[in-house]
Amino acid sequence: MKIIFSEKCLEYGNGHIESRERVKKAKNFLQESGYQLEEPDFAKEEDLIKVHSKKYLIKLEGGEGGDQDTPAYKNIYEYAKLAAGGAILAAKKQSFSLMRPPGHHAGISGPALGASTKGFCYLNNIAIAVRNLNKKTLILDIDGHHGNGTEEIFEKDEKIIFISLHGRFFYPGTGTTSSKKSINVPLPPDCGEKIYLNSLINALKKINLKEIEVVAVSAGFDSHNGDLASLGLNEKSFEKIGRIIKGLKKYTFFVLEGGYRHIGQNIGQDIDSLLKGFNSNKK
Ligand SMILES: [Zn+2]
Repeated sequence: MKIIFSEKCLEYGNGHIESRERVKKAKNFLQESGYQLEEPDFAKEEDLIKVHSKKYLIKLEGGEGGDQDTPAYKNIYEYAKLAAGGAILAAKKQSFSLMRPPGHHAGISGPALGASTKGFCYLNNIAIAVRNLNKKTLILDIDGHHGNGTEEIFEKDEKIIFISLHGRFFYPGTGTTSSKKSINVPLPPDCGEKIYLNSLINALKKINLKEIEVVAVSAGFDSHNGDLASLGLNEKSFEKIGRIIKGLKKYTFFVLEGGYRHIGQNIGQDIDSLLKGFNSNKK
């Protein structure tokens, strides 16, 4: 499987937990492990407008729309468009988009579903890719935080089913209830692999897989033990998650969300584990 990546995503933002270093380390690790990289193009306005309000896009382009978690970096609109383009390419090629900034907290017009900030996200990359592909899709959000932006965007879209597993008390505090098409699984912090995997399998049992053509994975790794939204997972847990996703036997792609700072590790190892689990025969 190819890794979608552009060096451009390392140009901006320092001193923030969502750092260029986290993605740079991951990229180096994956490249040394034999993965090939492919450069994305910028997402087009016509793709963005299918997800975000025109007003919000104009604000972002004009250097506004930042908040305490999500600074209005210089040219962030361009970087966000490239990350969205990465997700679009990953969707086309059934690949993994290793781009920043992340996206799943970005709602239609900014912070989503009652949250006061956009949680390091500007454009909702996975939502833009899913709308671009325009198929019946299951979005599986395995980031340790609730994908509130993604849920908000697809709330009324009958084509899209959303599953999110996340820590109950973590930012943004949403995702405590479910509907027929948005299955939220709030878990106790540091719950560990056994509870996590059982919860994932149970959530997947609730949907009619026959109605799904595509699986889009919001691939966050901050649920790793010791990271920002720890659910007590380790490298091997991600391999098991990868195997469960493979078992769905669908057209699948992955888009990076969170994953920051577990000690002595880099998220490249977790990504490699997830992809090994998903497909051990090819890279
Ligand atoms: Zn997260």
